[in-house]
Amino acid sequence: MAVSMPNPNEEDVEWAYYLWNSLSRDGGKWILPGVGVYRRTGDKKLSLTEIHFAKPNKNEFEQSVFDRHHWIMVLADNIGWTIDEAVELAKDEDGQLNIPDEMIGHVSICNARCGAILRVEEPVPSEIYELIDEELRCPCCQQEQVIEPALKGIHVIVDDRGWQLKKQRQEEE
Ligand SMILES: [Zn+2]
Repeated sequence: MAVSMPNPNEEDVEWAYYLWNSLSRDGGKWILPGVGVYRRTGDKKLSLTEIHFAKPNKNEFEQSVFDRHHWIMVLADNIGWTIDEAVELAKDEDGQLNIPDEMIGHVSICNARCGAILRVEEPVPSEIYELIDEELRCPCCQQEQVIEPALKGIHVIVDDRGWQLKKQRQEEE
């Protein structure tokens, strides 16, 4: 689990108040490094329109995009602003995440039956997306040619609960 961020202090609140009020009411753009792009969409309203994901990090103390976005929402609450999500673009260090609209809702499993379930979903800040590579490698068992070719080059959400359970059972045997 990621460590939660400290509550915004008075200085943070003041900073947000002046920064956000200085944005143009008509789509003024605020880029928050490591989180994404917010646009002013109303008098006291921001929308998260781009998510900038960092690569999945094994360091448990690393704050996720979601932690930071959540922190911004708490901050907004403090000064009577609201924040919604209207994500048009999501990218990581390698570039834009590839999540084709027509594939959203698609669910697939690893052909090696390792327990991995892959889902194509709309980008949200609370998830981690993994790219299915040219070798159709499974993000869990790492075998090649076990993922359906339709997912090649697409970023998916990996549900690894089945895989974790299987691994646990094998270790116990
Ligand atoms: Zn697998």
